[in-house]
Formats: sequence, C-alpha cells, structure tokens
Amino acid sequence: MSDNKNNMGDQQPNNPMQPNRNPKGKRRFNLMWLYAILFIVLIGLQFFGKENAVTQEDIDQGRLVELLQSQEVSKIELINKEDAEIYLNERGLQKNFPEAQTVNGTTVRPNYTYRIGSLDRFEELVEKSQEGIENPVYISNVRRNNWMSDILSWIVPLLLLIVFWMVIMRSMGSGLGGGAGSIFNIGKSRAQLYDKNSSNVNVTFKDVAGLEEAKVEIMEVVDFLKNPEKYTKLGGKIPKGVLLVGPPGTGKTLLAKSVAGEANVPFFSLSGSDFVEMFVGVGASRVRDLFNNAKAKAPCIIFIDEIDAIGRARGKSAFTGGNDERESTLNQLLTEMDGFGTNSGVIVLAATNRADILDKALLRAGRFDRQIYVELPDIVGRKEIFEVHMRGLKLAADVDKEFLAKQTPGFSGADIANVCNEAALMAARKGKEEIDKQDFLDAVDRIIGGLEKKNKIISLEEKKVIAFHEAGHATTSWLLQYAHPLVKVTIVPRGNSLGAAWYLPEERQITTKEQMYHEMIATLGGRAAEQVVFGQISTGALSDLEKVTKQAFAMVTYYGLDDEIGNLSYYDSTGQQDYSLTKPYSEKTAETIDKQVSKIIEKAYQEAVSILTDHRDGLSQLANKLIEEEVIFGEDLERIFGKRPWGNSEDEKLKNAALKETENQAQKQLETETQNEPQNA
Ligand code: ADP
Ligand code: ZN
Repeated sequence: MSDNKNNMGDQQPNNPMQPNRNPKGKRRFNLMWLYAILFIVLIGLQFFGKENAVTQEDIDQGRLVELLQSQEVSKIELINKEDAEIYLNERGLQKNFPEAQTVNGTTVRPNYTYRIGSLDRFEELVEKSQEGIENPVYISNVRRNNWMSDILSWIVPLLLLIVFWMVIMRSMGSGLGGGAGSIFNIGKSRAQLYDKNSSNVNVTFKDVAGLEEAKVEIMEVVDFLKNPEKYTKLGGKIPKGVLLVGPPGTGKTLLAKSVAGEANVPFFSLSGSDFVEMFVGVGASRVRDLFNNAKAKAPCIIFIDEIDAIGRARGKSAFTGGNDERESTLNQLLTEMDGFGTNSGVIVLAATNRADILDKALLRAGRFDRQIYVELPDIVGRKEIFEVHMRGLKLAADVDKEFLAKQTPGFSGADIANVCNEAALMAARKGKEEIDKQDFLDAVDRIIGGLEKKNKIISLEEKKVIAFHEAGHATTSWLLQYAHPLVKVTIVPRGNSLGAAWYLPEERQITTKEQMYHEMIATLGGRAAEQVVFGQISTGALSDLEKVTKQAFAMVTYYGLDDEIGNLSYYDSTGQQDYSLTKPYSEKTAETIDKQVSKIIEKAYQEAVSILTDHRDGLSQLANKLIEEEVIFGEDLERIFGKRPWGNSEDEKLKNAALKETENQAQKQLETETQNEPQNA
C-alpha cells in the first residue's frame, strides 16, 4: 500500500488518529481470511453434496422402456420435475444387481436416474411402454430441496460483490493518498500539515517580492496568531478567514506558504478540489475532520487553495445537476467557520482567482471577512521578482533588471519565474558560461509568442504581405496620439503566429473614448495596409478583427461611450445574471447595438486607410526594412516618420509609465496574426 504520501500522520507521531491504524489493518486482514475459508468450505460442500445426490447410473430412454416392459420397476419418483429416479423390484434387482442389499424387496436408494426432457412426454412414455401390463408403475412426484445450491446461489455472488467492493475501495483510497489507504479513511481530510519540525517549509517573506500591501495585511494575520492577547486585550476579535484574490501566478500560494514560514504555527494546506470525491457526503466529512485536526493544533492556519472548487455560488447551475455534494461540502465549511469561536486561534486562508463566482455567504462577516487583493506586479514589483528569481543564476554583467521589468508589462510572478528559467536554459543550450541580456530578451519573446519557427517556409509573396501588414500597425500606432507606441515588430514566425508587434502600453486606470478609438485604428492598420498597398485583403487579420469587435462592443454596451445608446451599461459585475440566455435589452436595442458597433469599426478602418494612404512612402520603407531584417524597433520608426510630435517619445513614455504604472490595466500587448491555414499545409 503506497498510502503514506500525504498522510499528515507521518509527520506527527503523536497524532491521535495514529494508534488505531494497525489494529484496524489487522482486523481487516483476518476478516479476509474468514471470507476465504467460508468460501472454500461452501464450494467443497457443494461438490460433496452433489456427489451424494447422484450415485446411481444414468440411463437412456431405450433402457427405461425396456425395464418397464419387462416389469422390473417397482417405483418411479420424479424429483423436482427434473429427474426421474427409478427403483427396481426384486426381479429387476436379481437380474441387474444380484448383490444388492434389499429392504422390503427394494433398495433404499434408487438404482437408475433418468433425466427427463419434457414432463408430458415422459408421462406419455411411461404410460405407453406399460400398455397392457396389469399393474403398471405410476410416477410419484417428489419435491426435494437442495439447500446447498440454493444458499450458494446467493452467497457466492454476494461474496464476490464484497470482495470486488473492497478491492475498489482500497485502490481508490491509496491512489488518492487517502489516509491509511482504506475505506475507513475516505472521509478524512487530505490536508498536508507543515509545522516547525517539518523541513518542507522554507519559504519566508524574503522569497515573496513586491506585493507590499498584501504582505502588510498578511503580516497582521501572523501577528494575530503570535500575540493574540495584544488584540483580544482591547476586546477586538481576530478574523476567522482571509481570502486572497488575484489572477493566477501572482503568488497567492507563495504568500500563504510564507505565512507558515514566518508565523511558526502549524499550517494545513490543501486544495478545494481535495474535498471533492465521487461519494456523497465525503466532502462534508473531510471538512469536519480538517477542522477537528486544526482545532487540536490551534493556533494554526488552514490554507485552502482554489476555493472556488467548492465555494462557487450555490444553486446557480441548475442545468448540470449533481451539485448537491459540492453544496453540502460548502455548507459544512460555513457551519464549521461559524462554529469555532473567534478567538480559538484557527485562521482560514483561502485563495481564488475568481472572487466574483464565490457564494456570497462565504464572504459575509465572520467568515472570509477580509479580502487581500494580490494583483499583477507593477514595474517595481516586477524588478523585485526578477531579483528574487535571479538569485541562483549566473548572470552576465549586461543584465539589467530594470530594463527587463520594462519589457514585461502584464507578466505575473509565475511568468517572470518562467522567463528566468527559460533564459538559463537558452544560455545553456548555446553553451554559454553566463546568462546574458539577449537570453532574457529571447526568453521574454518566447514566453509571449512561442518558439521561433526559423524553418517555416514562407514564400516571398507572403512575406511581403505580412511585412506590410505589420508595418501598417506600426505606422498607424506611431502617427496616432493616443495609440501605444511600438517597441518592436518582427515577422519571424513564432508559435502559431506569422508576425508580431510589441507595444508599450501606457498603464492607465481609465481610458477615454478617444484613446480607445485610436487603439482600434492601430489594430485595423494591418488590414488597411494590405488594402492600400495590394488592393486586396487576406485572412491574416482574424485576431485583429476579433479584438476590435470586442472592443467596439464593450464601448457601446459596457462603457456607455456611444451617442446612440447613451450612458447605459449592460455590464453585470455581480455575475449573478446569466446573459447567455436572455439579454437585458430589447430586440430593437440589440439592432442599434449591432449598427453602432459596425459603424465604429467602419469609421476606424476608413481612418486607418486614410492615414496609410497619406504616408504610403514611409509605410513602404518600413515594410522593406522589415523584409530585409525581419525585426524593427522604435528607433527605425523615429528615423522614418520623425519623433512623435506630442512629446511622448519612447523614453519619456517609459519614464511616465514607471511613474504612474498601475497594475490592473497592464495586459500583454501582443498582436498576433493567425495563420492562413491553407497556405501552411
Ligand atoms: P498563484 O497561487 O497565485 O496562482 P503561485 O503562488 O503558485 O501563484 O506562484 C507561482 C510561482 O510564481 C511561485 O512559485 C513563484 O516562483 C512565482 N511567483 C509568483 N509571484 C511571486 C512573487 N511575488 N515573488 C516571487 N515569486 C513569485
Ligand atoms: Zn495584425
């Protein structure tokens, strides 16, 4: 049994659950033997019984007729309407079994057995063969119970079922690391326990970069646990639950782990999905068990990762059904959180990236009443995360963390950790002694766009189209005041894309209508360039169009930026309404929305065409350079079109960005072109 993996009992020799384990195992072992012996005995009895029942000779129809006609039969007993047992009379015995011992002229046991086919035919046969005989033998019906086979017929399947069930339970228990690998532990919690004598917690706040606000709040939790009197003295209540909310990879798990390292209290860690099992009631029982264990170890922390697996709003997905188990698990969790006193010293930390779908009951006071937002890191945070992850790396002198932080807007902590690792791998692949700046830049490119596909065959004709398309984006965005300035354009195919452009997003909190409009023009610049230069358009603009359509739709229906629709928003931040089935507006409004969306996009497209027609020369220069070199940077644009007149040159913009960089606006500003399927076969 490989059942020791996640069992917290292993790190805890004094766990109260522990002593039961061996006796339990032994008893089950004995029980199995008992079953086996019973089984063998029953089978044996069956054979033995059978042998007892049929010792007499089987005869066929001809012999039976013969016996009857020569009047050698004394009686025929029909057993259960299946077998006829034939007893001979004295004459018959003398002729066939001269040595047989007789009682009252017949033997005690029948002499022959005849297996009858059909009852009617058998009766007819006996009657016919004795036609004209004076004292014919009649058939007597006898019912005989074969209790052995009766019992076996239900015991054996039952036994098989039990054995089968035990095997399943056992393999399931051990497969999922469920306690001692037996069915008896399926309801036990699967939390992993870290405490001061376990060596697998070596994460502290030092390993968590950035996230200053989150750290301050979480530090308070640590403090509650270390000196509860400080707070209770004044009559304050210690919070029961803290919810960490943020996009994936931003370090929520890391933060929770570091609490364990800092607070020096036991730390139970598990994932929301650990509660979920195919058996009804298991989840709730695991919750109970978890809290019992935790209370025994108070003060301590329970960390539930991905709590949305159980904490999703109840009764929302009415169509799927089968959510009762999750609901009862959630109910149990709520009950437990209400159940323990505020000052019992158990604090529940939970992480999710979807706070919006959580059940409101979880978030109310007295449960997860504190929420800590863990956001994507800003430029300062990114620099610090680079520092943390570069600690163990051999770096060349030209690696500049600040520069790298600028190059990675919208990256999460996990992405940055990945960049560092990728860079090290790339340097190693090239046989370098140290990791240099270029490796890091390549790693960034690779993480955004996928691996370079150097040997993808692209005809010169196609390359030209791609180059003009990308140059169209670059030109329009350069010439529009509010579009994001370009950092780099490549037409090296990468991953699923044929070309890509990197922009430096101005990380802003609110976007004006004008800014959105300019961004849309720049996005449509690719297709517009194809139109202006070649007079025909291609499928290469799929992702551009998708992006623009979504943006225009959001402008009209969410942000209230359209004159016709007015200051209305059909956005639902509560997530309670399901708009996939019903729309919150009338058919007429729907028509207006469609009309306005296409009007906005059409206007933006015409604007892009007119900009590119006016700057046809610059566009061609840029595209040709792109065809030659495959990569162009902001400087090339500056040389061709001149400095951007509104003063935000790239440098200045970087400075501004660093100043007012704000977290949640950052997004990977990658623009990719979907492949043109037929030509890439
Ligand atoms: P989440 O739980 O939010 O999805 P994790 O905590 O699992 O994310 O983070 C994944 C990895 O990303 C961590 O193991 C760590 O290497 C890295 N990471 C994320 N955020 C940070 C950070 N703020 N500082 C250092 N490393 C980070
Ligand atoms: Zn494009």
